Amino acid sequence: MTKGNINVSVENIFPLIKKFLYSDHEIFLRELISNATDATLKLRHLTTIGEAQVEYGSPKIEVKINKDHKTLSIIDQGIGMTKEEVEKYINQVAFSGAEEFLEKYKDSAKDSGIIGHFGLGFYSAFMVAEKVEIITKSYKEGVSAVHWTCDGSPEFTLEDDKTKAERGTEIILHIAEDSTEFLEESRIRELLLKYNKFMPVPIKFGTKTESLPLPEGAAEDAKPETQEVDDIINNPTPAWTKAPNELENEDYQKFYHELYPMQFEEPLFHIHLNVDYPFNLTGILFFPKLGNNLNIEKDKIQLYQNQVFVTDEVKGIVPDFLMLLRGVIDSPDIPLNVSRSYLQADGAVKKISSYITKKVADKMASLINENREDYEKKWNDIKVVIEYGMISEEKFYEKSDKFALYPNVDGQYFLWNELVEKLKPIQTDKDGKLVVLYASNTNEQDSYIQHAKAKGYEVLLLDSPITPHLIQKLESSKENISFARVDADHINNLIKKDEPAIAKLKDEEKETLKKDIEEAVNDKAYNIQLEDLDSQDAPFIITQPEFMRRMKDMQMTGGGGMFAMGGFPDMYNLVVNANSDLASGILKAESSEDKNALVKQALDLAKLSQNLLKGKELTDFIQRSFEQLKK
Ligand code: ADP
Repeated sequence: MTKGNINVSVENIFPLIKKFLYSDHEIFLRELISNATDATLKLRHLTTIGEAQVEYGSPKIEVKINKDHKTLSIIDQGIGMTKEEVEKYINQVAFSGAEEFLEKYKDSAKDSGIIGHFGLGFYSAFMVAEKVEIITKSYKEGVSAVHWTCDGSPEFTLEDDKTKAERGTEIILHIAEDSTEFLEESRIRELLLKYNKFMPVPIKFGTKTESLPLPEGAAEDAKPETQEVDDIINNPTPAWTKAPNELENEDYQKFYHELYPMQFEEPLFHIHLNVDYPFNLTGILFFPKLGNNLNIEKDKIQLYQNQVFVTDEVKGIVPDFLMLLRGVIDSPDIPLNVSRSYLQADGAVKKISSYITKKVADKMASLINENREDYEKKWNDIKVVIEYGMISEEKFYEKSDKFALYPNVDGQYFLWNELVEKLKPIQTDKDGKLVVLYASNTNEQDSYIQHAKAKGYEVLLLDSPITPHLIQKLESSKENISFARVDADHINNLIKKDEPAIAKLKDEEKETLKKDIEEAVNDKAYNIQLEDLDSQDAPFIITQPEFMRRMKDMQMTGGGGMFAMGGFPDMYNLVVNANSDLASGILKAESSEDKNALVKQALDLAKLSQNLLKGKELTDFIQRSFEQLKK
């Protein structure tokens, strides 16, 4: 037997490991299973290149709990280690790795982002175990198995082992008093499913009972025979590791549910990522049905490194707008042992992010080309992602004319160029500017929509939470375009044409009328605006200027610049049709009471049509209207 001291300068490193890694104790299992997987895949490699003269077979990794002995074992059938290798890899190399880690991150131990992603490797076992044993036999011919033990002090023992005949490694953890949760089957199963669900070597955790098929001609009530089979936790060949041409749509859907077992809706479509230069990355992204939902609390994109789960905090790696998607990204090139701020500045990560952005843009373009009808049907559920991408990623925006849709209120969809072509002849104003009219709610803005349509104009329906930002972006990047919501002003003012207006009232009359109305309204929130409109048009209309309303909307979804802090007062225009009979009526009214009554009633009606008449005002209005019926 060899006895010795592990090569270490810190007197007793184990308490430190425990302390520093406190919040993330559970990763020990991921580390040990990763080692077991590496050992297995190394053996496969050696057998395929003819370096190892052994039968590779179909090796498994087994995880076993023994409650009586308070042990948890991880057993693999990989390359194993010779005595010399244990000396070299476990006693020296591994430990210097841990030491280096502590040296480096002592002061920033609270940044769990670093700790969680740092592969502490084998020694992380001591976070949960008071004693660890390794029994291992190398694949090499004629070598003896060896047995290593260490109780958490820098001392270890190493001796030959006569019991182990099969190649591979068994790691036995004697679980410490404060970590007995790791002796619970449910806890271990939870961890295996979290970190190892898609690892490349089958992982066995206990057995389960399966029914055998009934023999042919068996009686109705015959009970099927059962058998015990290995309970394999993982799927070693998840969809993203396969080539896209090996997979059908159903395979992607099946994988989606495998990834998110609590998700019952089907994804709308998927994007298979596959790149090997200038970095390695595979993965599958799914578009869920989002509607106007910007909430991404659960079922987030998961990041893997060679099929080992790392995190579902992908901020910085995936562009923000794509965090609304679901799926998997697997890359050995993402540096995991660094902090987030560093990650965002990392060159490889930036390339990955822009690759994914480009890939999504290309996929959208091909989807709309393949089946425009289907794409239009899905638009409502994907538009927040696309629109968010357009306002936040310039490269994505540049391509978006190919796949961003602009629906009108009647459910017709236009690409940008189609829209411009359609609108140009009718909605270009007298200064040559193309005015795009839109509504955000067809119910609330119905009367304005009808007005615009009566003029032969097209009204878009832009109702996502991002709309104000999106149109700001479009206006600033496209030539000579402006957007106006249908209720931003009277339609004649939204698209000004060179038609001379015929005025029924003289200028002095208008002045008097304006003063009369101002006095009767007596509310600073309303700016009175006299217009010579068609005499058949509504006499009073309330509008909210585009700029004001847009700033307010933007403030609500974040952004909005200088007003974001202060909050916005509600300001409206009261457009009075000077050519209407009511206008003449107000002007001619005999007493100021009559004037006031007319203005009040007309204003309330205008408010009512904008859904602005509330509370006592509404009650009074209704009572007054009933009174008038009696007369
Ligand atoms: P890392 O895996 O990052 O190299 P570890 O501390 O986890 O660091 O392991 C150190 C070394 O010990 C490994 O590189 C490997 O050579 C050896 N080793 C660990 N676990 C096993 C195992 N199950 N089978 C064979 N070798 C192993």
